[in-house]
This record gives sequence, structure tokens and C-alpha cells, in this order.
Amino acid sequence: MRSIIFIAPPAGGKGTFSEIICKKYKMPHISIGEILREVTTRNEEMSKYINEQMNSGKLVKDEYIYELIKERISREDCDNGYILDGFPRSISQAEDYDRMLAELNKDLGCVILLDIPKEVAAKRIAGRLSCPKCGKVYNIYNDSMKPKKDNICDECNSTLVKREDDNEKSYELRYNTYIEKTQPLIDYYKNKNVLYTIDSTLSIDEVTSRIEKIIRGD
Ligand code: AMP
Repeated sequence: MRSIIFIAPPAGGKGTFSEIICKKYKMPHISIGEILREVTTRNEEMSKYINEQMNSGKLVKDEYIYELIKERISREDCDNGYILDGFPRSISQAEDYDRMLAELNKDLGCVILLDIPKEVAAKRIAGRLSCPKCGKVYNIYNDSMKPKKDNICDECNSTLVKREDDNEKSYELRYNTYIEKTQPLIDYYKNKNVLYTIDSTLSIDEVTSRIEKIIRGD
């Protein structure tokens, strides 16, 4: 199976579609945002710094991200492909990642841009809830994304939470970071001929089916 990198503005659907595809194709879902959130709960030197960066919508230092990603994709469950959600997020990270892949003798796979206007993504933030344990993402304003029981994760029964950075002010900062740092990746991957674009405002079923077509190489 080809690995997949999802690129999208914040709340563009990276978490949702990573989750759907990894479940269906039994591929590991690597969400760097989730990995970082877990690090902030530990009592480590970098925890406070990471928490501050995340709450201000800024990117965490490349060297931390590099080590966390390298350690994760080196595990055995990644031998047959994986889904990267939130990495790379800048040209420097994409270049680091190319070097990492060469070192580990792995393929890049394909890159999927989930395209969505800012206003639509910003509205999703208002209803978004996530599971602190398994990372599943819900949206109370979208019938197909509501939890079965109010505020409870369908998968692991944990109480759902609103992410600390899911507010209007933080969204604006995260969006600006996306435009400045992440958007240039679109041309970077276009030039490598590995970029596919999907309209992320379509229904969940439609977006899923388009992703599956890409995975199958139709
Ligand atoms: P996400 O869960 O993907 O929305 O990421 C939440 C936050 O984690 C971002 O706003 C950044 O502060 C941080 N973050 C996630 N991915 C990266 C990355 N690749 N590089 C640096 N910081 C990141």
C-alpha cells in the first residue's frame, strides 16, 4: 500500500479522512498533532514549549518533529505504508522528510490536498470535539460526524473534549501559519508529480471514494 500524506488547512479534514482510510485499509494513522498533544501531558523539558507553540498556532521546532516522526515511521507496523496527518508542514520539513525516507529506504507515496475555503473550515471548528484517548474527531453540527452518545467517544467510551486551540483567535493564527508555511508544499509536491487535490467540502462518502480511487491508482 502506498503511504499517504494529507495536506489541508486546519479543520480541513486531515484527521477525519486519515481515520476512515486507516481503519478500512488497516494502515497506521500518524497524527503529529496527537503525538505532540501526548508529549505536552508528560513532564519533560520540551512539554511546556510545545504546549505554548500549539496554543499560539505556531509550528513546533523542526528538530523535535523530525525525531518524533522518524521514531514512529521506523516501527514495524509502518513497513507496508502509513498515513501522515500534519507532517510535513513546511518546505524545510518536506526536505528533511525526503532525506529521512532515503535513509530508511522508504517511498514517499502520494500526497492528497484536501481543499476547503477558509470560512467553511473555520465553521467546522465551532462544532469540533475530539477524543483525548484515541484521537477520533467528531462534529456536533454534522449528522454523520456526531457521537452516538452525547460527548462520549463511540470507539473507546472516553469523554470528548474541545481542543484548547479550537477557538476563533487560535484558528486565525493557525490558518495564517498554514498559508505562510504549509501552502508552498503544494508546488513542492506538484513538481514531484505526487499531488492529488480533492474538494473537502463534498460529502464524507464522496471524499472517501475519491481518496480510495487515488490509493488504488484508478
Ligand atoms: P493539528 O492537530 O494537526 O491541527 O496540529 C496542532 C498543532 O500542533 C499545530 O497548530 C502546531 O502547533 C503543532 N504541529 C502539528 N504538526 C506540526 C508540524 N508538522 N510541525 C510543527 N508543528 C506542528
